[in-house]
Amino acid sequence: MSRNAESTAFRSALEVIRGVEPRVADAIGAELADQRESLKLIASENYASPATLLAMGNWLSDKYAEGTVGRRFYAGCQNVDTVEALAAEHARELFGAAHAYAQPHSGIDANLVAFWAILADRVEAPALRRAQARHVNDLTEADWFTLRRELGDQRMLGMSLDAGGHLTHGFRPNISGKMFDQRSYGTDPATGLVDYDRVAEAAREFRPLVLVAGYSAYPRKVNFRIMREIADSVGATFMVDMAHFAGLVAGRVFTGDFDPVPHAHIVTTTTHKSLRGPRGGLVLCGPELADQVDRGCPMVLGGPLPHVMAAKAVALAEARRPDFADYARRIVDNAQALAEGLLRRGASLVTGGTDNHLVLIDVTGYGLTGRQAEQALLDSGIVTNRNAVPQDPNGAWYTSGIRIGTPALTTRGLGTAEMDTTAELMHTVLSQTSAAANPDGTASKAKYALDPALADKVGRQAGELLAGFPLYPGVQLG
Ligand code: PLP
Repeated sequence: MSRNAESTAFRSALEVIRGVEPRVADAIGAELADQRESLKLIASENYASPATLLAMGNWLSDKYAEGTVGRRFYAGCQNVDTVEALAAEHARELFGAAHAYAQPHSGIDANLVAFWAILADRVEAPALRRAQARHVNDLTEADWFTLRRELGDQRMLGMSLDAGGHLTHGFRPNISGKMFDQRSYGTDPATGLVDYDRVAEAAREFRPLVLVAGYSAYPRKVNFRIMREIADSVGATFMVDMAHFAGLVAGRVFTGDFDPVPHAHIVTTTTHKSLRGPRGGLVLCGPELADQVDRGCPMVLGGPLPHVMAAKAVALAEARRPDFADYARRIVDNAQALAEGLLRRGASLVTGGTDNHLVLIDVTGYGLTGRQAEQALLDSGIVTNRNAVPQDPNGAWYTSGIRIGTPALTTRGLGTAEMDTTAELMHTVLSQTSAAANPDGTASKAKYALDPALADKVGRQAGELLAGFPLYPGVQLG
């Protein structure tokens, strides 16, 4: 698409929206301005292409399409069939998977689809078969009660939250924590790395139905071949949630033992993080689980979002191009340059570095909590998020860590030299911020002191750094 066409498309869209609710048009324009100005280091965010964004804003959104391609509960789904089939085809080809289900609205939804598919596959539950034979709305309270009793307490073994695991891997704040009796494996306290012998030991003791690998805040590779061997040794289904690193799998940075697709029974992902697509989810599996996975809607998903599936098809087509492999490699080069820049300046990093797209800084070395560090960085134009570190003394709210990632800045075109400058800016802010006390003199985990002139100066320097790498250069709104 020519740059002119991009400007015309977005300008026209905003003009139409402004005619109805100008405040929405303003907010959309303001969001682009904010994104252009901030040094975005949130590991789970990215910038989708103009084609991906535009594929979402259209009349495909108007269709109901419960069911699967060619087998819908609604008439007139031929165009939805086309985009869903394309999204699934691109996903299968990109990841080398036998089956792809493109309907999940998000990563959490993709995991729910996978969990129900595994339960249906593994647990003898006639009530579940009966439930699947009917529409979910037709089930009575008694049906659900029988279903819960038959499913019983199934077990899930996943990575602990403070080691970088995700809430949906059997933790209480998510429904998976109510569906499964969960136990977690942590990381080696000395190295911060997954200790496969300990995982195997936990699996032998706990005998889970599902072994989950995948993470939100673990800065290293996971050996999925070894994890599959562990799962097989106890008869568990092996599931990988590659939400964070799907872009590195797509770009062939993670291959062999580190590519989850050939090793896992089922793989879930988001499409909007390192994969750089629209907000959404995806499930990949072999033929054995395909039928169960395809029952995701209406079992646990609302009606599919055809406009988002169209955008998934566009983004996945982009990820199949050769330049995506180059992008994925640069994500990791940049994360490693950022890690090295921080280490050289004295920062302490969980596991001492990274081999993926993210870096976890232990900010207690700067005398700060994650919350204080996050705010001080934000004051200085650097957007990050606080995150627990293994055995975090400050808990999940204040935390002791800052998680940073490079997918977004790499999309923007920043390279390893700019990562060193970013490390310098971050270190300047963190080393010049101090923890402040509460009015009664007790230590606060939230209050901090940072000279506003310094925050402004760093903010300006961040702006100068970004000026060389315009975001959505083809889009001029005004
Ligand atoms: N799985 C992992 C590993 C994640 O990191 C996340 C999001 O942070 C999710 C699942 C949930 O994704 P979503 O927010 O799209 O539901």
